[in-house]
Amino acid sequence: MTAALTSISAPAAWQRELAAAFTDPRALLAHLGLGEGELAGALAAAADFPMRAPRPYVARIVPGDPADPLLRQILPIAAELAPAPGFVADPLVEQTGARPGLLHKYRSRALVILRGGCAINCRYCFRRHFPYGEHALGPAEIEEIARYVAARPEINEVILSGGDPLLAKDAALASLVDALAAAPQLRRLRIHTRLPITIPSRITAGLVDLLARAPWPTVIVFHVNHPRELDDAVDAACRRLRAAGVTLLNQSVLLRGVNDDARVLAALSERLFDAGILPYYLHLLDRVAGAAHFEVDEGRARALMAELLAALPGFLVPKLVREVAGEPSKVPLDLRLTP
Ligand code: SF4
Repeated sequence: MTAALTSISAPAAWQRELAAAFTDPRALLAHLGLGEGELAGALAAAADFPMRAPRPYVARIVPGDPADPLLRQILPIAAELAPAPGFVADPLVEQTGARPGLLHKYRSRALVILRGGCAINCRYCFRRHFPYGEHALGPAEIEEIARYVAARPEINEVILSGGDPLLAKDAALASLVDALAAAPQLRRLRIHTRLPITIPSRITAGLVDLLARAPWPTVIVFHVNHPRELDDAVDAACRRLRAAGVTLLNQSVLLRGVNDDARVLAALSERLFDAGILPYYLHLLDRVAGAAHFEVDEGRARALMAELLAALPGFLVPKLVREVAGEPSKVPLDLRLTP
């Protein structure tokens, strides 16, 4: 009896890895054998948006390289604090009029913010200033969301998004799935997550079983920006998900100093396919305050896409899109090179 209780309450491997994430820039720099030249800026930027980097992700960073594209995504730097015209706290105007935990931006899809926060804090995140605390979901809110969805026949897909929905324990995910099962028009459940990349052990047997038993097909949209973010552990997690019938897609953000190179983007698409994931979107950066140093201009983005189209089969070329507040969908960019 005692042993059983212990095993029920002991944190799972993924929860231990979550708790062990780097949150102190000084510790991360020391771990990677980097000097403290940028430490003051890192600490100041981390005070605005905390650093968080799980160890399985950090293990893929090349030690001693301050320009490593994976490090660039997670290390706070002083440039985040420099004002930049046009870069604002809420670039997609999500913070006004939203119901707790629910965003209904697109007609047929409702987006549920099941958990605030993520396992990793990406420095370019468009929700880096999002008031997650106002969107905490308890059982009453989940029931209300389920009623909202069931009352709107035009909603045929629910998207669980970030914060990272897989930070929820399996029991909380199961409760949501059960509540949504009352909406007869739903055809898909979609999950936007970076956890299987940053902490692959999150793909537990229990989670896979839950997704396999859901009353609708499940689509998982990963967020990977560079081919080195995928390793053997991610491959194994993807195999478990695919064996359960889950469709795997990926969205990336085009980021200066990370993946603004056609060879890197082509290698990313090839590596994703090796893992059983299809490239879906390549987003232009959302202009959130603190991320201006990541921006790649539209002309350069189009030129990169032209190189990708020449280098890859069409099914490995993601759609280049920008999200525009108030538009009924993501806005695809015209890829014809304008004079
Ligand atoms: S995983 Fe996504 S939601 Fe979370 S910090 Fe990164 S970009 Fe933002």
